[in-house]
Amino acid sequence: MTVYIIGAGPGDPDLITVKGRKLIQTCPVVLYTGSLVPRELLQDTAPGAMIADTSGMHLDEIIGHMKSAHARGQDVARVHTGDPMIYGSTAEQMRRMEALGIPYEVIPGVSSYAAAAAALSQELTLPELSQTVIISRCEGRTPMPQGEDLVALAQHKATLVLFLSVAMIRKISRQLRPILGDDCPVAIVYKASWPDQLILRGTLETISAQVTDAKITSHSIIIIGRVLGATDFAESRLYAADFSHGYRKAKVEEPLV
Ligand code: SAH
Repeated sequence: MTVYIIGAGPGDPDLITVKGRKLIQTCPVVLYTGSLVPRELLQDTAPGAMIADTSGMHLDEIIGHMKSAHARGQDVARVHTGDPMIYGSTAEQMRRMEALGIPYEVIPGVSSYAAAAAALSQELTLPELSQTVIISRCEGRTPMPQGEDLVALAQHKATLVLFLSVAMIRKISRQLRPILGDDCPVAIVYKASWPDQLILRGTLETISAQVTDAKITSHSIIIIGRVLGATDFAESRLYAADFSHGYRKAKVEEPLV
């Protein structure tokens, strides 16, 4: 018996791993995290499977289901949105399972930030502009550890990806404008890969009003940084003609004699 912690992907039911999908189709117990898990994935479960939405349960209740399945020797598909290892509240479940001796395995998923970058056709790392992506969030009910407040993170000028924060976009832009500049590009992807996906592109100066106008209050990824929409970036060395690597020899033009 194993509890499979599965990343369901960002919304499009085809954006799940083959492994994750097979497990959802075969496990006799399926526990999913609520409305952001695509319904289509839950329509194709094993006959007689027990399927439960855990969004109204507290940790002990969720672990209770896992304990019962363990006692019955039944595998569990524990389905989380996006990738389970990012803002998934999975660590506390794994810790409980560890203590109870319940075997588990993690199946990664397509995180919503990857789906947001895809929706924007935006590479988040561009040579000489930003080679670093900072994934973070604004302080909500979960306090931020010291040194991780947005103002401190923005000093790096890296590409910033914010989860769980769109409701605080006013505060975010107010804090970041003095550091990154009023014209620093911002993109917001609401419900990336869902049929009602919405994209807003603006700057630190404009984005807050755009979010208010679009009435967006949740389910969004915020991306901030100079990589957005950049066209004047250096080409990477990977495909440079004069660059050799393990799979390709440099083609250097013969000098004219
Ligand atoms: N583990 C998930 C994140 C869960 S936290 C992942 O890897 O994507 C929930 C937050 O994720 C939301 O508040 C929102 O910021 C983001 N999110 C989840 N699905 C999203 C989607 N399809 N589009 C945009 N943001 C999404």
